[in-house]
Amino acid sequence: MPTSSPFRRPPTGEPPTEPMRLYDTARQAAVPFEPGPVVTMYTCGITPYDATHLGHAATYVAYDVLQRRLRDRNHETRCVRNITDVDDDILRKAREIGVHYLDLAAAETARFNSDMEALGMLPCWSEPRATSAIPDIRRFIGLVLDRGYAYRSGGSVYFDVSAFDRFGQISHLDRSTMLTLAAERGGNPDDPHKHDPLDFVLWQKSAPDEPVWESKWGPGRPGWHIECSALAMRELGDTVDLHGGGSDLIFPHHECEAAQSEVVTGKRFVRHWMHQAMVCMDGAKMSKSLGNLVFVSDLLKEYDPRAVRLAIVAHHYRDSWEWDDRVMPAAAARLEVWLSSPAESRAITAATTLSQVRACLDDDLDTPSAVTAIDAAASTGGIRAAAALLGVQLW
Ligand code: ZN
Repeated sequence: MPTSSPFRRPPTGEPPTEPMRLYDTARQAAVPFEPGPVVTMYTCGITPYDATHLGHAATYVAYDVLQRRLRDRNHETRCVRNITDVDDDILRKAREIGVHYLDLAAAETARFNSDMEALGMLPCWSEPRATSAIPDIRRFIGLVLDRGYAYRSGGSVYFDVSAFDRFGQISHLDRSTMLTLAAERGGNPDDPHKHDPLDFVLWQKSAPDEPVWESKWGPGRPGWHIECSALAMRELGDTVDLHGGGSDLIFPHHECEAAQSEVVTGKRFVRHWMHQAMVCMDGAKMSKSLGNLVFVSDLLKEYDPRAVRLAIVAHHYRDSWEWDDRVMPAAAARLEVWLSSPAESRAITAATTLSQVRACLDDDLDTPSAVTAIDAAASTGGIRAAAALLGVQLW
């Protein structure tokens, strides 16, 4: 492993003694997270058809803080975040505004990248686009068919859920809840070509005005879940150390990803599943369909981006929380206090605060307690290294 890699932080001289603990969605418990020197991470990225909202930002901040602590623990992190530049949503929006879907994708990806940069996110190891993976996706679907876990019907290819006995291994949902969520989240359980409503599409026949790629199964385009399996394996190998995304992706998206991946490789797809809880507004999760969104770009017109980050890390990634008008003023006030904190500590040592924050992050990424520890030390100073672990640069 090259020591000059930009994805690896130089050793700090303080080897961690205790393993980090992280909650694993599949095992439903906080468990030791003990990856090797290189940590492979995959997080589901955006569909670039609208601006980045606070729910996206919360997910990527959680992953960013995790990466900072892993690097601080002397790991190299390789985080892959895909860009879904072809799917139902982007095609619908492109149709509505009358532009080519890839032009819409390019414009919205640029806005997303600018929001991420403003928030001080570590760059991803790679950010592949779904349309860059069509040959990988076709090969992958061919393997699912060869293994006997998929069937062709109505010009599309579907995964046969009844053939995979571990379906539900991540979400632990009963069948009726799966059916409800599949209907709410674009799983099309009413598609008449499916043998079972929970079967999911791997390759779908394109509508007349949609993009089309040739395949052995007829012209069409990828289903929703297949790109993440194809890209994760292309970039990171058969098994990924940690896979994340918003908790609304647990079912059906991640359940389907794991099923199709594991039948192809015969190996576990993901060692550890990490999910970010929903940010809510007016009592419901922020979502494009409800329109109850706070856009990052709007917040950045009014506030220091570090205050936006502080507003997020003041909440634990597994706790759903409600956005209201008090969130940003409180975060901005906290940032002012931290910025006026002396660089050198006058009482407790900077090393003490840093150790406290490290311990908080190692305890299932407990950022609210880390923030409290820094608050307590702010009046005496020496908080910069600790704040930097949360991605808040005070100098
Ligand atoms: Zn995904």
